Amino acid sequence: MFTIHTDPLHRIAYATDASAYREVPQGVAFPENEQDFVYLIETARERKTHLIPRAGGTSIAGQVVGNGIVVDISKHFKKFLEINKEERWARVQPGVVLDELNLALEPYGLFFSPETSTSNRCCIGGMFGNNSCGSHSLVYGSTRHHVLEARGVLCDGSVEVFKTYTIKELEERFGTRFWETESDSLIQNIYSQLIHWALDEKTVQLIEENFPDKSLRRRSCGYAIDEVIEDLHNTAKPLEDRTINLCKVLAGSEGTLAFITEIKVDLDPLPPKEKMVVCAHCDTLQKSFLGNLVALKFHPAAVELMDRNILELSKENVEQQKNRFFVQGDPAAILIIELRGETRAEIDALADQMEKALMENEEHLVYACSRVYGSEISKVWSLRKAGLGLLTGMKGDAKPIGVIEDTAVAPEKLPAYMADFAQMLENLGLSCVYHAHISTGELHLRPIINIKEAEGLRKFREVAYQTALLVKKYKGSLSGEHGDGRLRGEFIQLMYGDEVYTLMQDLKKCWDPLQVFNLHKIVDTLPMDSMLRFEVGQKYAIEKELCNSSSALRQAQGPKIYYNWKATFDECKVEGATGAKNQLHALMCSIEQCNGAGDCRKSNLIGGTLCPAFKVSGDETKATRARANVLREILTRGWESEAFAQALDKDKSILKSKELAEVLDSCLACKGCRSECPSNVDMTRLRSEILQQKYDVSGMPLRSFAVSRMATVEQFGHLVWPFYNLFASWKFSSNIIKQIINFSTERDIPTLSRVTMRTAVKRECRKHKGQTTKGKVFLFADEFTNFQEAELGLTFAKLLLHLGYEVEIPKHVESGRAAMSKGNLKLAKKFALKNVNLLKDKVSEQIPLVGIEPSCILSFRDEYPDLVPAELRPQAQQLGRNALLFDEFIMREVKAGRITSNDFKSDAVEIWLHGHCHQKALVGTEKTVQALKLIQNAQIHVIPSGCCGMAGSFGYEKEHYQTSLAIGEMVLFPTVRKAVANADDITPCIVSAPGTSCRQQILDGTGIHAVHPIEILYRWVK
Ligand SMILES: Cc1cc2nc3c(=O)[nH]c(=O)nc-3n(C[C@H](O)[C@H](O)[C@H](O)COP(=O)(O)OP(=O)(O)OC[C@H]3O[C@@H](n4cnc5c(N)ncnc54)[C@H](O)[C@@H]3O)c2cc1C
Ligand code: SF4
Ligand code: SF4
Repeated sequence: MFTIHTDPLHRIAYATDASAYREVPQGVAFPENEQDFVYLIETARERKTHLIPRAGGTSIAGQVVGNGIVVDISKHFKKFLEINKEERWARVQPGVVLDELNLALEPYGLFFSPETSTSNRCCIGGMFGNNSCGSHSLVYGSTRHHVLEARGVLCDGSVEVFKTYTIKELEERFGTRFWETESDSLIQNIYSQLIHWALDEKTVQLIEENFPDKSLRRRSCGYAIDEVIEDLHNTAKPLEDRTINLCKVLAGSEGTLAFITEIKVDLDPLPPKEKMVVCAHCDTLQKSFLGNLVALKFHPAAVELMDRNILELSKENVEQQKNRFFVQGDPAAILIIELRGETRAEIDALADQMEKALMENEEHLVYACSRVYGSEISKVWSLRKAGLGLLTGMKGDAKPIGVIEDTAVAPEKLPAYMADFAQMLENLGLSCVYHAHISTGELHLRPIINIKEAEGLRKFREVAYQTALLVKKYKGSLSGEHGDGRLRGEFIQLMYGDEVYTLMQDLKKCWDPLQVFNLHKIVDTLPMDSMLRFEVGQKYAIEKELCNSSSALRQAQGPKIYYNWKATFDECKVEGATGAKNQLHALMCSIEQCNGAGDCRKSNLIGGTLCPAFKVSGDETKATRARANVLREILTRGWESEAFAQALDKDKSILKSKELAEVLDSCLACKGCRSECPSNVDMTRLRSEILQQKYDVSGMPLRSFAVSRMATVEQFGHLVWPFYNLFASWKFSSNIIKQIINFSTERDIPTLSRVTMRTAVKRECRKHKGQTTKGKVFLFADEFTNFQEAELGLTFAKLLLHLGYEVEIPKHVESGRAAMSKGNLKLAKKFALKNVNLLKDKVSEQIPLVGIEPSCILSFRDEYPDLVPAELRPQAQQLGRNALLFDEFIMREVKAGRITSNDFKSDAVEIWLHGHCHQKALVGTEKTVQALKLIQNAQIHVIPSGCCGMAGSFGYEKEHYQTSLAIGEMVLFPTVRKAVANADDITPCIVSAPGTSCRQQILDGTGIHAVHPIEILYRWVK
């Protein structure tokens, strides 16, 4: 039986998209075949509701937000049906992700050319729905230009194929001059209406006069009636030969006309291999608008703009910092100009001429140009593509708001339009961020507005209205690519005039007389400032609950918040509030950073860590976005949320809700979102804060307590280690422990080393007393290495001693990583405070603290400064700066010339490296690779894996065991197996992973022993 999910979790997860809107749907459905669509249509009619087709859910204008039933086709409609290399087309289901399609097409030398920025998660169905396009729309146009055919279900349940038909073919189906007779056939009426309009001179003239400039490459505003009837009123042809393809109007119809179940698109040959981007730096924005017109004369494949705001934001994003290498000075804007050609010499010559034209003119339009070639180009595009995500991640309540962010006018009109626009903003007292597709006259304009305040909300509407007037003045399109949704619909009448607007309303009525598809989008929309995520003056439900304590102090001071959220979100201020209340507000701001752009939905074929729980399941409710949505809804609206209308247990704390437990439970705390989410949503940290809040009201589960106290258990266990190991490894007894704490019996409980790392290193150091010359190093004996892998800790000490360093393990306590990961923040705070106090006056730049296990040593840098009391934060930060991961230390010493490749043997070795996910999120794996490269003949392959799936105790937990293995099976295990199977007999092939849980996971998943990079370096040291 086909299910419509009406539980609060699904309803909350699907209440938003990447827009500012929120409306809780009645339910969510995941159809698996065309018959399910027919069933859904019948159900919608019975329940007097409507259906909202949805793919990746990355729409910015609220297209997939509504109170009907959301129909998510991204889960089951993912098949590649046919690829025809000779005729250059592909037929796919609408849930296929753009990047996945292009990966599949690469071997054929072809690609689907509208390169939407969200290409790693947007689906072909969504692109069709919004008529999406990309940076190269100058050359390739938009999706409408590429859809040849589509198959879909109409509101009466009939299935149709939409493609190019001549009038003659249609007459053969419906009868001669069928458009002149009334009919019961829905599809006949659809064709009749359009043919009527096309044959009526007055209607054609009305359309020609009121639609935007024909020259515009980007246009996604209203129904494209002009395009669909274009050939029908081509009087040069006999009537019977004129053609119509309904795909022209379905493109950009935002799911308001039909369900699409198959799409046939034409393909382009892959662009020529030789290309280059010239990054032209301008010192004013106006110069960049003029510079674009100069660049266009050189027939570039694309010209895109990034303004100073974007460049500034990219400095704070871990993922994008490394993509800023081409920036020179402090430009007001950079034009990214892509040139293509057959040879490098050809494009270099073109670039010479273009740079000359840009730089050597009276206005000095450009002050510097950086040329970028080869694989580096993708970094420039990555930075450009991340722009919108980075923007919406701006901290604080005032955000660069999506309201007029894709207006398009003819490029030659852009300088004048921009001047009027700037004046309008000045009159409203607003500033704006400018970026993107300048070559086609479309700039992503985002005024910075706080729509949580009444005045901000007023400006939100005013900007939209005044911009619509300006765009009309320049005969542009209010939307160049993002579509109307519920944001722009209100202004279509103004843009196109009453008569054309009536045609659009009639078109919707004709296609969807039963009011089944995505109501209130494009036409008859609700006011653009209704149903927003945030209501003016909204209070946080959770505040009342957390302060609901018998303690007068708690009531006065506000809730107890464990992390210092304020330190990162200082911009979030509550008028007149202090202390804990401000902390709560900052915590909420951190959740509100999620704008729904959906990078956390990228598939495992695309790479990266974010978000393993989604990658492995394809389930939206397991993506970071859903977690953020649930946290926001529960902490802001609590039981008052419409999603909980049917909930029976509203007398208990909202923190005990099942939905909250579910979203926190599926998170691996891998920190993938910390760096790869453009808005830096840090779910690992949010999860532990909320878990502690939950424990405060309902107590801590035994397993969480046991795991967070693991090091203490091991410390005592060590006193009787043979018995401990026997107990832990003997099947009978270990199964008892596993049953008690609900661990999977398939996993082995780690056993203890005979001596601890601390003791072993101390003994070793005594032997080398007085022999070291290169300086001193403090080793961090983290709780995992100290008790379970002392031999590894000893190896690192031996390596350092051998290289001439004095080594000491200072007095410290455990890192608290396990406590953090289980949300035992009360305990983690104690460890953080102790470690900071013990080490702050010892550790320095000269004598750093160096760690082996990434997740432990990186806590000093990432979590400690926000866990210790605010007054200790500067010292904690200082300590964090000098707490280095093993590879960071080695490379620091290489830079200083104290370690060289001469210290290592050059014997060949092949190394397959899997980085730890916290390492990838916070510092990257580059330094590990560089350190291993000290072995001159080392061939290093970085495995393009995300999280290994073990993630501390996650993979041990009974209910997560299978998921954990499935995550490993996505990339890591197959790569490791293949690497080892393909190894030759001469060169050693080593799988390496710095994380202890990663090594265990690789062993459990493949039977292959992975080693820490330190062990390789020690084996190769001379
Ligand atoms: C950071 C960011 C950058 C963006 N950059 C670009 C850009 O460069 N260019 C661009 O054009 N857009 C851009 N967008 C907007 C958005 O990503 C695109 O419009 C994208 O193509 C939408 O695809 P989706 O799979 O997310 O579709 P969704 O948002 O899920 O749906 C889009 C529309 O298609 C309809 N739809 C989906 N599936 C079907 C179906 N099977 N049948 C009928 N209707 C259906 C939906 O009802 C909806 O109206 C950006 C958005 C963000 C957040
Ligand atoms: S969590 Fe980050 S990546 Fe995911 S939707 Fe929210 S902002 Fe985007
Ligand atoms: S921490 Fe990892 S699993 Fe959790 S939301 Fe972020 S990326 Fe997903």
